[in-house]
Amino acid sequence: MTEIQVRRTKIVATLGPATDAPGMLEKILEEGVDIVRLNLSHGQPDDHRARAAAVRAAADKVGREVGILADLQGPKIRIEKFAGGPVDLMTGDSFVLDCRPDAPPGNQARVGVSYYDLPKDVVAGDILLLDDGLVALAVVEVVGSEIRCRVAIGGRLSDRKGLNRQGGGLSVAALSDKDRNDIKLAAEMGADFLAVSFVRSAEDLHEARRLLREAGGDAAIVSKIERADAIPVLGEIIDASDVVMVARGDLGVEIGDAELPGLQKKIIRESVQRNRSVITATQMLQSMVTAPIPTRAEVLDVANAVIDGTDAVMLSQESAAGAHPDKAVAAMRRICLGAERQFEPRDDLRPDTHSIDRSDQAIALAAMLLAAQVGVRAIVALTESGATAQWLSRYRFAVPIYAMSPSGMARRRMLVLRDVQPVDFEQSNLDPAHTARAALQHLFALGKLTKGDRVILTHGDHIGRGGGTNTLKLLVIGEDGIADSLRDL
Ligand code: PGA
Ligand code: MN
Repeated sequence: MTEIQVRRTKIVATLGPATDAPGMLEKILEEGVDIVRLNLSHGQPDDHRARAAAVRAAADKVGREVGILADLQGPKIRIEKFAGGPVDLMTGDSFVLDCRPDAPPGNQARVGVSYYDLPKDVVAGDILLLDDGLVALAVVEVVGSEIRCRVAIGGRLSDRKGLNRQGGGLSVAALSDKDRNDIKLAAEMGADFLAVSFVRSAEDLHEARRLLREAGGDAAIVSKIERADAIPVLGEIIDASDVVMVARGDLGVEIGDAELPGLQKKIIRESVQRNRSVITATQMLQSMVTAPIPTRAEVLDVANAVIDGTDAVMLSQESAAGAHPDKAVAAMRRICLGAERQFEPRDDLRPDTHSIDRSDQAIALAAMLLAAQVGVRAIVALTESGATAQWLSRYRFAVPIYAMSPSGMARRRMLVLRDVQPVDFEQSNLDPAHTARAALQHLFALGKLTKGDRVILTHGDHIGRGGGTNTLKLLVIGEDGIADSLRDL
């Protein structure tokens, strides 16, 4: 039988005007998108409702399950609008940031900022970066609500561009009033993932999770690491998250681009060791916003994220507003497959580097040690919540993990996990041995397993109870997909 390579790394694609084109959503799903991202920084609630509904319809049409990630805007500080369109600031010019509710529309000399506490957070000598660092202002003095600056790097500045401080440390809270409303929207849309932007602490994530649960949402919580202040408390933030995102856009502005490569690797490594999944995001194939093929540097960037051990790679503008969303997804799929073929899992993702605090994690470790020792076609996990699949996938052993769950939400949340293929499977029979057998026959019928395949199977004593995995079996697939004990290795 010829082997078809199963892609291990997952693909997240941001929706936008470009994916609203007729047929484009189906196309990008067919090209391999596992999770779509609704960027709540843009558009109205109804736009997002319509897109979420379109995604579920397109997923049904192409016969695949797709996760929906709702991404909160967060407290991104922005300048206000200009009276007469963009202004060109020259290096050395004076420029005032006017941080009060009644600031007039901006001009060549000044512009409003809607975060009124900003003057309390900055001091003379600070560098403020606008539009992801394309324009830089050096703070000269703070007088009342005015921050008087000198232009350190000149450039064109247009309405509502973002503002960061080099080195981070702006005190603005992680959840704005808009975010609180958007959490309710995410719950209403049945989002599978909720991303919290500009996270500073574990507390920010606890609060988002509490608000989401209150609103009736069951999404996994994604923490976007994009502030310098998050780095000293990274471990606590990862522990409070279900999924971590390396949000390279804002992070690069705050900490300086030279620090990014080291931090990307650190965030991925720590997330995996702490049994969390991780998405690498922003500008991965940036040139494909206009070009039909990626640059060589972009190919290397995506491949390097795969080699670093990321669970998923993400497209932002390339899919949301680019000329070739489908080609960008196809490029990611191709590059991931190539990297997965050419590289072994990294040594520093060894089993003994992971924390184990639950019995299902211990079973996952045992399964992976066994898989490495005897060689198996697949690991099959009967999992109610998806937890066992998550622990299994943390070991990066390059063995497909079929995660059999009757819960659509659990299956969609597992779509972010590297190596995990969620499969819809009703665990109706309460006898675990019988159910396990039926699960393997189901995979045989789907063509995922064939006669002679060795598999490892994990399940609990009580089918249908989350977190109860306590059993591991080594089996061989026989005639008609009927599994038998494996006697001789
Ligand atoms: P954004 O987050 O696209 O919402 O800004 C990602 C990033 O900052 O990299
Ligand atoms: Mn960001």
